[in-house]
Amino acid sequence: MSTLPILILYALHGPIHIHRFDMVKQQFTTWSPDHCTCEIIFTWDSDASPDTRVHTVHDVTRKCPNHQNTTDITDHYNVVLGENNRKNFAIDHIIQNTPLALVDVAPDGTKTIKTITNPDGSKTPTWSVFFSHQGVSPNRTLTLTISGITLTQTQLTNLQSKLDTRFGAGKITVVNV
Ligand SMILES: [Zn+2]
Repeated sequence: MSTLPILILYALHGPIHIHRFDMVKQQFTTWSPDHCTCEIIFTWDSDASPDTRVHTVHDVTRKCPNHQNTTDITDHYNVVLGENNRKNFAIDHIIQNTPLALVDVAPDGTKTIKTITNPDGSKTPTWSVFFSHQGVSPNRTLTLTISGITLTQTQLTNLQSKLDTRFGAGKITVVNV
């Protein structure tokens, strides 16, 4: 198809009609998050760059027991994605705010969990952060469990305080076992 009709459509109707018009570029992806058993199909335009791609919910094919209460598929996607992002951000927040002796620091300053190098060259993390969610949406909370290292009470309190500031008090609890 020449680009001229698309440009004319764009000029007349704006970009949203192009997506509807140009269905061949629409991709479908089934997503099941790593923190619950929901299954969501969303669509995206393969012509858009990964940075600007818009994900549009197509269907929710499975609702886990903790996300049964949503009625709208877009709300459902936003709730599940929001929880998943918060979990990922919070784990990274812990790593970025952990004492330096417990992390590897890349040249650009990014910190990752300190690893040991095995005889075969592979790397094993020296500690871990496990996650679990509690409650039923919209009243979900997150527990992050730091395992494999022993933090001082001050270090743990500092981490909890940073998480409270970033995500709101009572939303995330960090424990060290
Ligand atoms: Zn779910």
